[in-house]
Amino acid sequence: MPSVYIKTYGCQMNERDSEAVAAQLAAKGYARAASEHVADVILLNTCSVRDLAEQKALRKMENVAAAIRRSRPGVVLGFLGCMAQSRGRELIDRLPDVDLVLGTQKFHRAGEYLDDLFAGRRRQVVDVETEPGSEATIREHLPERGNGAGSDRGSRWPVSAFVSIMQGCNQYCTFCIVPYTRGAERSRTISDILTESRELVSGGVKEITLLGQIVTSYGKREIGARDGKSAFVQLLDALNGIEGLERIRFTSPHPKGYGDDLIEAYQRLPKLCESAHLPVQSGSDRVLKRMHRGYDREWFVGIVSKLRRVKPEMGVTTDIIVGFPGETEADFEETISLVREVEFDNAFVFKYSPRQGTPAAAMPAPVAVEVIEERHARLLDLVNEIGKRKYRSCVGGRAQILVEGPSRKNPARFQGRTRANRIVVIAGGADRRGDLLEVNITGAGLFTLYGETVD
Ligand code: SAM
Repeated sequence: MPSVYIKTYGCQMNERDSEAVAAQLAAKGYARAASEHVADVILLNTCSVRDLAEQKALRKMENVAAAIRRSRPGVVLGFLGCMAQSRGRELIDRLPDVDLVLGTQKFHRAGEYLDDLFAGRRRQVVDVETEPGSEATIREHLPERGNGAGSDRGSRWPVSAFVSIMQGCNQYCTFCIVPYTRGAERSRTISDILTESRELVSGGVKEITLLGQIVTSYGKREIGARDGKSAFVQLLDALNGIEGLERIRFTSPHPKGYGDDLIEAYQRLPKLCESAHLPVQSGSDRVLKRMHRGYDREWFVGIVSKLRRVKPEMGVTTDIIVGFPGETEADFEETISLVREVEFDNAFVFKYSPRQGTPAAAMPAPVAVEVIEERHARLLDLVNEIGKRKYRSCVGGRAQILVEGPSRKNPARFQGRTRANRIVVIAGGADRRGDLLEVNITGAGLFTLYGETVD
């Protein structure tokens, strides 16, 4: 059977989609290629959130096509995911060597289309149509066992796994392309998600991260609120009951989705980790309004305070965009002051990237590139300074970590995460993957802690 190599760009949703495609192809007998140089099928699972990500994938495919077409003309080249969805046939017009363009609701058809291409039944395939029910196809393709960090030498799944609970987004933030590339919100059923999660746990998974563009909107249409609990909190309740599952995380929520039921869930559900990635985007009410975020600064700060009140050890991270059209120095100063006030554990700081077809791309007063660069650097310095201080303040304390596998930087050591989602590196030795360990925190670097196990 042919071998396949998948390269993934972008977010964890894309990682999970790639896992599902890999599992689907493995079930059909495809082997996994160690690199693009030996693969019979090369798939790029793309991201459209910023122009940089699109350009990277386009350049990669240009290089791959130029290198491979001469020496191995039979190799199948494909684009999957968000850029495939937004650009469709244009990708083949631009790069005629590409054989397959598969949109975000069509991942489950990858195997069938590859069969057609190999059998010569089709010369090229472009499928970016919407498909009702595509959110449910994810469950058919659990990640392959024995791959990724934390796997147990080929027999089990990694210690920590992603579970996609919904697709699409209805928020329509003015800067964001996601509603156009991923379509409207569609949620899986609670029983489907429980079945997948139980199966993962039976294979050794200890921690599950629920994925969705806006997870807090889970099941709004399909399930609805009951007894004062949103569908998302009902799902958390159900997952908390899975025996053998130790930890539950989710990403990304929307600040608007933090009702009292969710805040209270952190207090009530022992498996729900004290960690929240809360994308704020800006500290200026004027900019938040133009972004169509649906909350203001005061609401956001209030949510963080409530979370820290119920769980003082809560790790809070965020996403921020600098240089949104019309962002003045005064607006940016508001963002700086918000970051100082909230003291995020970490923040992803993005330079605004105009996305074709989004309302912000047509807004007046674009911010000059040099100004965006300068604000980006200034904000990043502040985020790092606060992060360093917060991480240093953990030294001398104690934390529970879930050991995921060898440290990325030094494979002779192991690494795990605290419940607040901070990475802790510990000494090597016996394989402790999957163990929950109590550690004393003995040192701190930039966004990494060092620890020793408590005997
Ligand atoms: N659904 C989440 C939300 O908005 O609450 C985040 C999903 S998005 C894929 C991840 C991050 O990319 C966003 O939080 C935002 O900071 C950033 N982003 C999205 N569109 C962008 C754009 N046009 N330019 C720069 N950054 C962008």
